[in-house]
Amino acid sequence: MKNIFGITFDDLETYFINNGDKKFRATQIYEFLYKKRVFDLDKMNNIPNTTKDNLKYDFDFSFIKIIKKQVDTDVKKYLFELADGNRIESVLMFHDYGTSLCVSSQVGCNMGCKFCESGRLKKVRDLETYEMVEQILLIEAEIKKRIDSVVIMGIGEPLDNYDNVLDFIKIINDPKGIAIGARHITISTCGLIPKIEALANEDIQFNLAISLHAPNTQLRSKIMPINKAFDLNLLIKTVKDYIKKTNRRVTIEYVMLDKVNDNETNAMELASLLKGMNVYVNLIPYNETNHIEYKRASKDTIMKFYDTLKKQGINVTIRKEFGSNIDAACGQLRSKEV
Ligand code: SAH
Repeated sequence: MKNIFGITFDDLETYFINNGDKKFRATQIYEFLYKKRVFDLDKMNNIPNTTKDNLKYDFDFSFIKIIKKQVDTDVKKYLFELADGNRIESVLMFHDYGTSLCVSSQVGCNMGCKFCESGRLKKVRDLETYEMVEQILLIEAEIKKRIDSVVIMGIGEPLDNYDNVLDFIKIINDPKGIAIGARHITISTCGLIPKIEALANEDIQFNLAISLHAPNTQLRSKIMPINKAFDLNLLIKTVKDYIKKTNRRVTIEYVMLDKVNDNETNAMELASLLKGMNVYVNLIPYNETNHIEYKRASKDTIMKFYDTLKKQGINVTIRKEFGSNIDAACGQLRSKEV
């Protein structure tokens, strides 16, 4: 039985039509669920009992559970338990300009990036669409506030769970649904080329971020096994095509690893790789973990790298850090909750 929070508006409309019910029931149900936040069918007035009975019979209305919260300045980490006992995390950040939520897309991850904690666990399974939507609904209920932006940068590789992630984006972006503007939704990928090509044909204006982390293919293969399947040079070409097709600026993520990818030559090489592309580089200070020997590049090194890129005419920012005190920072998720 499908969970109701994984059903896109179009699919709900089709369901009602196929059931001989009125098409506008989809609007009514979406309004209760996502505008009024009434999740109990018995509390939905104006919906006939036969419709309710059918919905009860055909859909599951259950929720995943928040089992732990950790709070730090400007950040909250949530541990969820799924119906099958698996656990995932999401991280809520309070910026001056609003709240953003980092959601997980899989239980574990198969990409095996050498520096990342989530990748040590291997993928257990993809998240269902509703399990992503409910991360948002439960946290909004808990903080009594709307989430302004969503980044799919938690545990998992979103493009390895393409269909469910796309339905998730449709539901949260739908003006009749959670109504988060597409410009406030970011998918981050380690570079699954065929899926990036597919994304270029989706007509939702979300942001795309590429975890590049190296300026050449040899180095990238050493730290990101996915590069052996989808080579950096082909990835860059794919991103160029994506930009051409969508006219949207792409974010390039680059994690600063001490003495691995952080010297001047690396910066120059990265600049020439990206020259002329409509991208901006987000330098991520590496978050060290207990199990992995990589170290964070020093502040000075990061600043130098930043300056070099700037001088070469590349748009660049340094990621503001959140949550390292509670292991909620990038690459630290699921490090203590195994
Ligand atoms: N699988 C997706 C999204 C999850 S990771 C992707 O690869 O993009 C989100 C970002 O955090 C990625 O850029 C990832 O490479 C980075 N990251 C992983 N471990 C990190 C760590 N320990 N410190 C800082 N960033 C890390």
